[in-house]
Amino acid sequence: IEGVYEAVDASPEEFPDVVKRLADEGWQGVNVTIPHKTAAAQLADHRTEAVDAFGASNLLLFRDGKIIADNTDWQGFQRCLSALPDPAYSKAVVLGAGGAAAPIVHALLDYHDVVVVNRTAEKAKALASRFGDHVRTAPWEKRSDILAGAEVLVNTTSLGMAGQPPLDIDLEPMRSKSLVVDIVYDPLSTPLLKKAREKGFQTAHGLTMLVYQAVPSFRAFTGTEPPDPEIILRKLTEERQ
Ligand code: NAP
Repeated sequence: IEGVYEAVDASPEEFPDVVKRLADEGWQGVNVTIPHKTAAAQLADHRTEAVDAFGASNLLLFRDGKIIADNTDWQGFQRCLSALPDPAYSKAVVLGAGGAAAPIVHALLDYHDVVVVNRTAEKAKALASRFGDHVRTAPWEKRSDILAGAEVLVNTTSLGMAGQPPLDIDLEPMRSKSLVVDIVYDPLSTPLLKKAREKGFQTAHGLTMLVYQAVPSFRAFTGTEPPDPEIILRKLTEERQ
């Protein structure tokens, strides 16, 4: 493939002008990361349904003089959910209500019961309200109790990340053969995932979401399929372990 994919620095003040310049220069589009995802959604001419639902974009495409905002983070996360029981009967608990949490809640909307638990309760409520009545919240102090009957737990907080304290939670109330996802990718094996493996649960680490969110972007930029993401994921995982 003849093409270039580069990192470009931009402060929040510069961000709109940097995007406009890249569009004018004839780039296919850009991936957008922290802290620009909300600004990216706002400056686009068109937004996909997902972007409208949670107000953040990690992919801007430049097409026919217009900027189209998409979000592939939720698709990346969906890959972590394969091989699970029927979502229509299942309960999922999401810890955290920061930037990474909204696409994850969006990807879980097929679940019968979705609960957001965050240290700052107002942020959990604001996130849940984006999804209507479908998503409920619970206080941070109840994070272990709320796991009763849950099949899926996703940590989207920064707890467990290098330099941060571990996430203090009791997984005992979860169903057997549950899935625990930690979207932290430094380190790959967080204390939460170690605890989940000891209980015989399925686990997924943060690189899964990271690799799979890149797949739709790659397609949109190049018009071709990327190399097998499973091979990339395995290689990156081996390098980090
Ligand atoms: P963020 O917007 O800063 O949100 C941080 C979240 O962590 C908030 O919910 C915050 O709660 C909570 N938190 C922080 N310290 C806490 C503590 N001591 N006790 C309880 N809760 C605490 O960050 P983000 O962008 O959502 O990213 C969160 C994590 O996800 C990071 O580790 C990041 O690397 C990872 N991530 C991974 C991917 C991937 O593709 N795998 C993508 C994006 C992010 P409050 O609201 O109460 O402050």
